[in-house]
Amino acid sequence: MLIVLLGAPGSGKGTQCNLLVQQLKLPHLSTGELFRFHISQSTPLGKRAQEFIQHGQLVPDDLVVELVTEELGNDRCREGCLLDGFPRTVAQAERLERYLVEQDRHLTAVVVLEAEEQELRRRMLRRGELENRQDDTPETIARRMDVYRRETAPLIDFYGEKGILHRVDGTGSPDEVNQRVCAELGV
Ligand code: ADP
Repeated sequence: MLIVLLGAPGSGKGTQCNLLVQQLKLPHLSTGELFRFHISQSTPLGKRAQEFIQHGQLVPDDLVVELVTEELGNDRCREGCLLDGFPRTVAQAERLERYLVEQDRHLTAVVVLEAEEQELRRRMLRRGELENRQDDTPETIARRMDVYRRETAPLIDFYGEKGILHRVDGTGSPDEVNQRVCAELGV
């Protein structure tokens, strides 16, 4: 099972993936987490990604695609995985599709978590205080929301046309959202 979790910043993709990891026994591939790890270790990739992330911009497609396809090629992702934060642009989605076709694989489902912008902003400001994430500041949050609307939201139509999109109400407690996600996925 190869599942994509889609949603605006703060929509709860990471939280839902953490729950699904246990339920579906699939590895969790979060591009945001991978980048944060590389930044904390000052790897060459981390150094290149840092500027973009700090300013709420997307990391260039080439860097992200390289990172994700390398991970997807790993043994641990052979049976599938939960993709969180990728793809984030139509160009990334097209490149993912080409890669999967070459491997004779395909996406099982795309879940989009939906919530009002005001609620998303509130969650991120709280997370910024709790986790000290460098990109959860009011200014950067606004930029990320903008980037989501412009670059990522078009993926809803992209996957809708392919018939694999599942829209889920992302409001309420993590458990409530999880139940809706599982019901949508039929798991
Ligand atoms: P959120 O979805 O809450 O913004 P993430 O942890 O998924 O948080 O991502 C944090 C940042 O990492 C993004 O704002 C972006 O700069 C970078 N990033 C993550 N995934 C991608 C991607 N697929 N393409 C480009 N940049 C990405």
